[in-house]
Amino acid sequence: MQVFGLIGNPVGHSVSPPMHEAAYEERGIDARYVTFEPERGSIERVIDGADALGIAGLNVTIPFKQDVAAVVAADPLAERIGAVNTVAFDGEPTGYNTDAAGVVRSFEHHDVALSGRAVVVGAGGAGRAAAFALADAGMEVHIANRTVERAESLAEAVPNASASGLGALDAALADASVLVNATSVGMESDETPVPKAALHGGLAVLDAVYAPIDTRLLTEARAVGATTIDGAWMLLFQGVEAFEIWTGRDAPIDAMNAALRDAL
Ligand code: NAP
Repeated sequence: MQVFGLIGNPVGHSVSPPMHEAAYEERGIDARYVTFEPERGSIERVIDGADALGIAGLNVTIPFKQDVAAVVAADPLAERIGAVNTVAFDGEPTGYNTDAAGVVRSFEHHDVALSGRAVVVGAGGAGRAAAFALADAGMEVHIANRTVERAESLAEAVPNASASGLGALDAALADASVLVNATSVGMESDETPVPKAALHGGLAVLDAVYAPIDTRLLTEARAVGATTIDGAWMLLFQGVEAFEIWTGRDAPIDAMNAALRDAL
């Protein structure tokens, strides 16, 4: 039996176990997916221990994504993002960032063309993954963040990118076709980081926040005729990408989506 898992702190409410175990069942893979809550500062021992125990793969969540990037060989995209959310233990432990694929595949699944201008709100881990992913897909990316300096330093690393504070969102969104909320604003609250007046029907809006599923940003975007994509899609496709890296097989997307939405 293969063992996969998730390290983070806390991970008690993670929906990754049912999502991945649905995939193993659907594909006839003898495997389990378990969660671990190591202490901060223990990451090197955690990765060595998992490797020694023969664990096949680990997902990584808050607060360990940057720490893991520093102790495994990260693939070029994860290296640029500076964060790892998936480790494969096939030979030397290798780190990947599947949040980036989670963003791109969410749009592709909804037939959104990734051309023209994208606005990414947020410059933390999710914002970095979204900005690099959309730039690599060929988009011109504008990063807007509460702390402007963080947006500016990210925009220096991302090809074809610009930066501002949240106050410039109206202007930045006027000719944009894609918007990603990669802040935690809206998580368990009725807030939105984007002024309603800045939204328009030409946008496809992905909210990384998945609790609640239907955030205020998505409700307001839908009201002006925008295409809306909830955070569960991003969560699904980062998991789909991890499954494919670990097993080398196509993921059963429908089964994983059903299990994920059941668990949320
Ligand atoms: P993070 O690294 O801590 O970054 C948080 C971001 O939110 C920063 O840009 C921060 O701005 C901004 N922010 C926080 N509070 C704010 C406020 N009151 N007003 C304006 N901006 C605020 O977190 P993360 O890992 O990027 O995660 C961000 C969100 O994405 C979380 O809700 C997380 O659950 C979600 N997420 C979802 C998925 C998925 O698969 N659906 C994957 C990853 C993350 P400053 O820089 O100014 O502090």
